[in-house]
Amino acid sequence: MWQRGDRTEVTCIACGETVPRSKAREYDKHGDRWDREDKEFEHLCKPCYRMLCHQPRKGLETLLAEAGAGDVPQSEFLRRFSEAVDAEADSENERGPQQ
Ligand SMILES: [Zn+2]
Repeated sequence: MWQRGDRTEVTCIACGETVPRSKAREYDKHGDRWDREDKEFEHLCKPCYRMLCHQPRKGLETLLAEAGAGDVPQSEFLRRFSEAVDAEADSENERGPQQ
């Protein structure tokens, strides 16, 4: 199903999954999706996009920046990012179950 080298496929920056571009969501760490010049967009698969949307925007930007989005090798970014998300999830849990 997945064809390597197919330009319509993108890699999710959060989980590293390769997904068809049509099923991915663009993520622009600069927050401006309409200025497309000289930019390489990053992509999130739908599950990750949904997960990130549940994070406060402010936290997301910080999270991605701290994880080194665009500045470190992808494997390093993914490792840092998942650690950060785990930490977020832990702090969620400490607030107790939602009623
Ligand atoms: Zn993903």
